Amino acid sequence: MKNKPADRIQDLQYFGEFGGVNPSISDSSTYTFLSAKTMFDTFEGNAEGCYLYSRHSSPSNLYLGEALAAMEGTEAANVFASGMGAITATLLQLCKAGDHIVCSRTIYGGTYAFLKNFAVQFGIQTSFVDITNLEAVEIAIQKNTKTIYCESLSNPLLEVADLKSLARISKKQHLKLVVDNTFSPLSISPIKLGADIVIHSLTKFINGSSDTVGGVVCGSHDFINALRNVNDGAAMLLGSTMDSLRAASVLKNLRTLHIRMKQHSYNALFLAHKFQEDGFRTVYPGLKNHQGNELFSEMMNEDYGYGGMLTIDVGSLNKANELMELMQKKNLGYLAVSLGFYKTLFSAPGSSTSSEIPEEEQKLMGLSNGLIRFSIGLDNDIARTYQIIKECMVEVGVLNTEMA
Ligand SMILES: *Cc1c(COP(=O)(O)O)cnc(C)c1O
Repeated sequence: MKNKPADRIQDLQYFGEFGGVNPSISDSSTYTFLSAKTMFDTFEGNAEGCYLYSRHSSPSNLYLGEALAAMEGTEAANVFASGMGAITATLLQLCKAGDHIVCSRTIYGGTYAFLKNFAVQFGIQTSFVDITNLEAVEIAIQKNTKTIYCESLSNPLLEVADLKSLARISKKQHLKLVVDNTFSPLSISPIKLGADIVIHSLTKFINGSSDTVGGVVCGSHDFINALRNVNDGAAMLLGSTMDSLRAASVLKNLRTLHIRMKQHSYNALFLAHKFQEDGFRTVYPGLKNHQGNELFSEMMNEDYGYGGMLTIDVGSLNKANELMELMQKKNLGYLAVSLGFYKTLFSAPGSSTSSEIPEEEQKLMGLSNGLIRFSIGLDNDIARTYQIIKECMVEVGVLNTEMA
């Protein structure tokens, strides 16, 4: 992989049927065949370039998949109707009844709930570990372990996973390292660091316009074909297929991802420094005192920065709520879950996106009540934005006037 990830996307050219500068959208769920023999071969997976039925694949979905595979540096990719569609299909493809997963304990709430409450019904057990403690990861591996699962930058605590070391451990034990890279597209390339499979929720930064849900799994030809297999493929049989119209729309948004990530990162780093100077416990991987700063810096593709996510602690849930409501009133952003939008989004993870995680465990993880998670937007003048945030902080009494 000699080119940078954004260049690899840029180098992909697709033309429409009539010479359009964007590829034509495949507006069909089914496809005709000139000969019955070709239809049979396509079913058997032996007719390259032929389409059968759009739950299996469609031209628009293949274009988007190809672009995302180029971005992550994998042989292939399959797009899904949502990030959870991608995650659940991958884990159910890799693990059967009696198998075991070693998983980071600080992960997206939906993934946590799936493993803890749902996958166990199929006889798949999970050990949740502190992913930054490599010894704990190794100890958790059992004879029946198939997968190590983590997020490169974890939700919502922004812990950084040491992907190189995790890859070394998983290779030694013949496991698959699966990495959810939703928080750090372009910034981190997990495959380069040794991961086997990379997943994204396209809903977030990659699509970037908060108008759809979507997901992708990037991996080897063999794994992606296995997911699509008509007899036992989790993508094909669980059926969380992306619609072609959406795939076309996400592909167009992907074209500006590098510019957006640079701006998200620039704005987030600026605010993180300011919040820290103001005395808030601020978590942002771009801050020198962040536990994973050095590791992230070693792993990252520098151009795109440390991403758009940061958290601050304002002391209590009440204060957090008051501040978020006021910031919304001042049009600084929206009190909403999700991330990667042009507008800043904020929420209190303990009572929203991570509410699937029991309170006890939230405490153990360091998820405190007054935590606000920010997805920093694409604001043109972030210094101006900061001034208005500061006024809000003073007004709700989490920042004293002298300091401000
Ligand atoms: C949002 C998110 C998901 C789930 O994606 P959906 O598109 O909402 O299904 C998975 N992982 C992470 C890190 C996320 O932020």
